[in-house]
Amino acid sequence: MIKYENVSVSFGNFEVLKNINFHIGKGDFLHIVGPNGSGKTTLVKTLVSLLKPTEGQIHINTNNMGYLPQKLNLKNQIPMTVQEVIYSGFDKPKLFPTKTECSLIKKWLLRMEIPELFNQSMNYLSGGQQQRVYLIRALISNPEVLILDEPTSALDPSFREKFYKLLYEIQQEYQTTIIHVTHDLTDAVKDDCKIMYVDQSIRFLGSYDAYHEFEHRGHHHV
Ligand code: ADP
Repeated sequence: MIKYENVSVSFGNFEVLKNINFHIGKGDFLHIVGPNGSGKTTLVKTLVSLLKPTEGQIHINTNNMGYLPQKLNLKNQIPMTVQEVIYSGFDKPKLFPTKTECSLIKKWLLRMEIPELFNQSMNYLSGGQQQRVYLIRALISNPEVLILDEPTSALDPSFREKFYKLLYEIQQEYQTTIIHVTHDLTDAVKDDCKIMYVDQSIRFLGSYDAYHEFEHRGHHHV
């Protein structure tokens, strides 16, 4: 479904990603970890075509991707309501959602435990509530690939666990391919997921068990 061949990304003389090679199949759940500034967000940006690689080839076998960026652009305080923000994530939104689309939005708000916010203005929401709304926006058109860059950073710990449970439900239900950048795997991992450790290049890619061994060996010296 996704294949990287010798992909490198440089900003001027600064090579952020070097010779990245991997592939991901349909229904895979991949966690991307690595130190700060190691190129995780840059990698994700190449996935969603926000950045072009300086070298190499990226093959992506779908047009239907949902993306939750790490830094939500909340500076431009557009006075949009929750339902308007979510509706903008639909495939081909019209001026107003239909009744069916409204009930789908409501169903997701309920699933994210914020049903009361349907008509609320985004500006009045807490960071965690806004993050839930943007998650629904990324999810609602049933993407084949879902890309989440630190999705739980603003979520309260009690909801984090539920959130990952929900992600695994979605993966099972729709065979969604999920790519998840995180600095904390505690709540996130399940047996059948894959872990990628990035630090300019891919230092590790494999199962969670194998990742444990890799960590014990002291991955800074690989
Ligand atoms: P991570 O997500 O792992 O924290 P990033 O991919 O955000 O890392 O950044 C990797 C490195 O690339 C950092 O040193 C960052 O400063 C640099 N970088 C990211 N985007 C740009 C850019 N547009 N121009 C120049 N340098 C950048």
